[in-house]
Amino acid sequence: MEDYLPISMLNQLEYCERRFYLMHVLGEMEVNAHVLEGTLRHEQAHTAGASREGETLTHRRVYVWSDELMVAGYADVVEETPDEHGQTILLPIEYKKGRMGKWLNDHIQLCAQALCLVERTGAAIPKGYIFYFGSRRREEVVFTPELRARTAASIRRAHELARAERIPPPLENYNKCRDCSLEPACLPRETRQLTRQAEIRMREAR
Ligand code: SF4
Repeated sequence: MEDYLPISMLNQLEYCERRFYLMHVLGEMEVNAHVLEGTLRHEQAHTAGASREGETLTHRRVYVWSDELMVAGYADVVEETPDEHGQTILLPIEYKKGRMGKWLNDHIQLCAQALCLVERTGAAIPKGYIFYFGSRRREEVVFTPELRARTAASIRRAHELARAERIPPPLENYNKCRDCSLEPACLPRETRQLTRQAEIRMREAR
């Protein structure tokens, strides 16, 4: 499955295409306090296995993939429960450090897991949840047709970028750069400045 995209990389792509390229294509990884906290939180929540409570069967650390979309990865938790007609409903649940952010990246990562589960099982997957350690809240994410389409488009874009052999330019929105662990490797301000200088030189040479 080496051409398959890791689902977790969709989260990076939604945040910033350059960050996605740096991590997925160039293998850059800066471990700061936020990244380390996220990794440790995940390790605590990620022991594989299954347990039953009432009618709900809970699977932990479930490997999911889609041959159609060429993505693969792990769902932290998948709950399996019957609906009122006895049909099986699957609910993917993702654990995240911090609180719900302004961006859709966590929703898209969760929805990609749901698209994989639909392809593998054919089960109904109307929604999922994201548990944020920071707020200790479980946020409901409904897999609307819009979110499913946005997720599929995001996966197509990720494959396109991975094949492009050209790193995307830095963001104009430096608010995101401030919180980005890859800022020291990316050098967004310096890159923008050099690009601007090169453009000026090209204009003057014409
Ligand atoms: S520093 Fe900014 S432009 Fe660079 S990868 Fe991070 S968010 Fe993207």
